Amino acid sequence: KAQIDPMEYLSLYDLLTPEELEVRKAVEAFVAKEVTPKINDYVEAAQFPTEIVNAVKPLKLFHHFLNKPYGHGTSYTKQGIILMEAARADAGFATFIAVQNLLLNYTLEKFGSEAQKQKYLTRTRDIEYIGGWGLTEKGYGSDASSLTSNVKKVQGGYILNGDKRWIGNGNKDVLIVWARNLDTNKVEGFIVETKWPGYHAEVIQGKLALRIVQNCQITFTNIFIPDENKLESVTDFQNGPNQVLMHSRVIVPWIALGVMRGVYEHSLKWTTTRKQFGKYLASFQLQQERLVRILSTFQASFLMVLRLSRLAAEGKATIGMISSVKAWVTDKTREVARLGREMLGGDGIISDNYVIKALTDAEVLYTYEGTYDINSLVAGREITGIGAFK
Ligand code: FAD
Repeated sequence: KAQIDPMEYLSLYDLLTPEELEVRKAVEAFVAKEVTPKINDYVEAAQFPTEIVNAVKPLKLFHHFLNKPYGHGTSYTKQGIILMEAARADAGFATFIAVQNLLLNYTLEKFGSEAQKQKYLTRTRDIEYIGGWGLTEKGYGSDASSLTSNVKKVQGGYILNGDKRWIGNGNKDVLIVWARNLDTNKVEGFIVETKWPGYHAEVIQGKLALRIVQNCQITFTNIFIPDENKLESVTDFQNGPNQVLMHSRVIVPWIALGVMRGVYEHSLKWTTTRKQFGKYLASFQLQQERLVRILSTFQASFLMVLRLSRLAAEGKATIGMISSVKAWVTDKTREVARLGREMLGGDGIISDNYVIKALTDAEVLYTYEGTYDINSLVAGREITGIGAFK
């Protein structure tokens, strides 16, 4: 009898609160009914899954990412568990949820005025508006704090010029834009509506990972942003985008956990049902070693990510801890995905069998929210006291 649930095997559910368990179960059921059977059509077509996203609305799922009064109350672990369950079906779908909640909604909650929350957060929370978060530019990826998109103060607002690259949901309704104020040289934050004149987004073509996420190359040409759309409490890069990344990098590794779990489940099912040489694949020693390696890597990663999430909730997670966990877990996800893909043989390249998606999506988990290298250098700086980069 196969041990299909890697959480149950080491009694990992016992580490979760009743609320976390309840939310996990609800999301698992939703994903099994609405996401898993439909998502790969969208993956193959590289299309945004409008039908599935519409089905999320009645669940009020995004309320779980916000504190009261705008949400149900939240925690790092609860948010992570939702993303883990979504990623078991598709890491792109989990990334869509992450962009809208960990980046866009968190920024509005943390830095927005009450008027901005009423106008935008209530809509982005209820998925009436879909939106993104624009930091990266064509010329500034890892070196994001050198960004050159800029604003100039004019009467009643600001004029925005520049570009953004890789922005998920950048062609939807609303975008947080991080731009340099030409008067102060500081990075500031703005809420920009994509329908305003001067906004132009092109979906980046040829992307073979996170297929359903609509990543855009965006140009801003003399966009007028009214004063009321400036995030007034942002003071600079540190007390602005960096705070948001400190938050999201705690939770993004949960997406990687979902991918590892998805790989484990699919590999175990496959190898315990397909026969070669008259025996189940799972009866071969080489396959068993791979399965155990995937299982153990998932469990070790889970414990690490959960510990980080609990520490972050207590305000005790340092930037180095956050970065090292993100780097390590996403690196391990690449290894797990490769092992899973090997185990399925030829059928391992079919989207419905998950493992080929895991293989390519893991490449993005490894790269976005700070690459493996950059996160390692951030952690390295903390543990040595010596900065190896700017
Ligand atoms: P580069 O910075 O050019 O790095 C290239 C390589 O050089 C990497 O291996 C890197 O680790 C290495 N490198 C760079 N500097 C150093 C150094 N000092 N020391 C050692 N090695 C170094 N951004 C957003 O703002 N919003 C989004 O919604 C968003 N979504 C994304 C979705 C996808 C699918 C992808 C691929 C990216 C997304 N990004 C987004 C951007 C992402 O954060 C950047 O891709 C990432 O920060 C890396 O930047 P880069 O791609 O320009 O690589």
